[in-house]
Amino acid sequence: MNRRSFLRCATLTPIFANTLLADDSDIYLNKEEWELLIRVNTRLKRIKKHVGFGNFNLISFNETLFYARSYSKIGAFTKKELELIDKLFHEDPKIYGFYGERTCLRIDNEVLKKQVTKIPYTGHFIFQGKALEDYYNLKKDVGDTLILTSGVRNIVKQLSLYVNKIYNSRGNMTKATKGIAPPAYSYHTVSDFDVGRKGWGYKNFTADFASTDEFNKMTKLDYIGMRYKKNNKDGVRFEPWHIEVI
Ligand SMILES: [Zn+2]
Repeated sequence: MNRRSFLRCATLTPIFANTLLADDSDIYLNKEEWELLIRVNTRLKRIKKHVGFGNFNLISFNETLFYARSYSKIGAFTKKELELIDKLFHEDPKIYGFYGERTCLRIDNEVLKKQVTKIPYTGHFIFQGKALEDYYNLKKDVGDTLILTSGVRNIVKQLSLYVNKIYNSRGNMTKATKGIAPPAYSYHTVSDFDVGRKGWGYKNFTADFASTDEFNKMTKLDYIGMRYKKNNKDGVRFEPWHIEVI
């Protein structure tokens, strides 16, 4: 084999080719979208600061546009920024390897205060009915070290988490979408909530939560489900902290 064809073969060995493919198959925002994303992220953070952490969980998209227009310290969303938001809400996330069901059809979805109950000292809300019942039963069956870490999240809150995740993933949409559901695809908008162990901080959102006594007790309860088990068909990472309301 002459040197030239050897080099060609060497660069096509399966391992190397696969490595290249793995990196290349991730989908990124383009440069213009990336710059818009930074501005949307900043504006959403200003909204959160303006309405407060608790209210930000519930506010609708229309209310968000109103606040942005009305307060110069927030500033109205530009047409291009709204186009990016529209794309993040409406596009099919299967292209990023997310196969979960759409939970919300309208970007201006409303969550009414009378539909939810605020859980003291958490800044979070839970839907009345089965979800709230589950939460109280969990506190009773698992104990007081079990805490609510995230409850109802309307579209804007989910959008802000998604946008921030894309930002932290440097525009890598494939990576971001595996870490957090896109704004129209979260079960937090319709039913589910997250729990953790008191004092565990960010570790409550890692697979380590599955090693806690709290989690162990939860696995024995038949009135709740685990939405995102290991290797779930939705393509979402293992989330032992995420309670499926059944
Ligand atoms: Zn969750």
